Amino acid sequence: MSSKEIISVIPNSTLYDVEKIRNDFPILQTKVHGKQLIYLDNAATSQKPISVIKKTQEYYSSMNSNIHRGVHALSQVSTEAYESARIKVKSFINALGKNEIIFTRGTTESINLVTQSYGRANFQEGDEVIISQMEHHSNIVPWQMICEEKGAKLKVIPINDEGEIIFEEFEKLITHKTKFISVVYVSNSLGTVNPVKNIIDLAHQNNIPVLLDAAQAVHHTPIDVQELDCDFLVFSGHKMYGPTGIGILYGKINLLESMPPFQGGGDMIETVTFERTTYNELPYKFEAGTPNIAGAIGLGEAIDYISQVGLENIALHEKYLLDYATEAVADIPGLKIIGTAKEKVSVLSFVLDDVHPHDIGTFLDFEGVAIRTGHHCTQPVMDRYNIPATSRASFAMYNTKEEINTLVNGLRKIIEVFG
Ligand code: PLP
Repeated sequence: MSSKEIISVIPNSTLYDVEKIRNDFPILQTKVHGKQLIYLDNAATSQKPISVIKKTQEYYSSMNSNIHRGVHALSQVSTEAYESARIKVKSFINALGKNEIIFTRGTTESINLVTQSYGRANFQEGDEVIISQMEHHSNIVPWQMICEEKGAKLKVIPINDEGEIIFEEFEKLITHKTKFISVVYVSNSLGTVNPVKNIIDLAHQNNIPVLLDAAQAVHHTPIDVQELDCDFLVFSGHKMYGPTGIGILYGKINLLESMPPFQGGGDMIETVTFERTTYNELPYKFEAGTPNIAGAIGLGEAIDYISQVGLENIALHEKYLLDYATEAVADIPGLKIIGTAKEKVSVLSFVLDDVHPHDIGTFLDFEGVAIRTGHHCTQPVMDRYNIPATSRASFAMYNTKEEINTLVNGLRKIIEVFG
């Protein structure tokens, strides 16, 4: 069966034409070591459709001008394009207002903004912050830094062998000292989708704000921040088919209003004298300096592309690929999947007896297959499973069953070669 036929049997997805989608991504035509590129490193960064590439180019070739400060025509065009990207983000996650959408460099900077602004203003000695054992380093280190500065304690929700949060343990960690909970929506190294709505509900019963790290979620599952009722939500453009160097911090308006600026400089001010500075209104209070204008506009275009394909269709296609790949590797001798949660996105992390992930990655590269090997910036997850690293194949909207077959054949060859 061709990938096209497979897709057509997915409910509500009869219009999903993976070949047509592939044609929109020029890089997929690339040859690596003389072989057709099979790109399965999407959790690290996704490829970009031609519309995003063209939009970024169009910005520099016909719009380039600094935003917000100019009265001339180009400045107005670029300001309008930048601000309309903000509105696209607002609609994409159903925020209440565009003032709740802050452009940042990415997930990492968004989390640092919250720790350095909200955390610095609100945490005190003895306070507690809860994260989970499956966090990306970006959702560990900034909290460690602010906890250390403030004398607060970082507590960690343990995960079970399948790679799921142990909810009863989470409940036990909450005390009257808990001031913040920051958890990953979807794990980048395990693929686990966390029960974030339950986490938020329990947190709010105890008046604790929650930040969701949605870096691996926004392009796999529709997100409605009002329905979730999360206090902050962060993600990166480059993992959702957009440019690098651009990301989002969503925050509830009352929280953002109450927070001091993160960085000082141009655009975030209202008035400046040597004696005193007053700050701009939201969202500009948190956007000091000239931002990544082309990146923001490119991100808006990526949202248009995702919306056009349909997030539900993408999710169904990726689920199909994950199920297919999980089954296909099941009888590979010595292969063990790390991360077998009931709720998962299209991330397949595994170890292979006696073969180091680095060797797996290098061997597959010569077959044209790009996967990621290492700790995936989640060293505590590796410690939890007592392994140094995994090999990770992660699937996106443009991947096919045939590509997974090549991956699996490559793994079988590796077993032959490495004995
Ligand atoms: N959080 C998660 C779950 C991630 O997967 C990543 C990147 O891999 C990050 C945070 C950091 O994202 P960025 O490097 O784009 O800031």
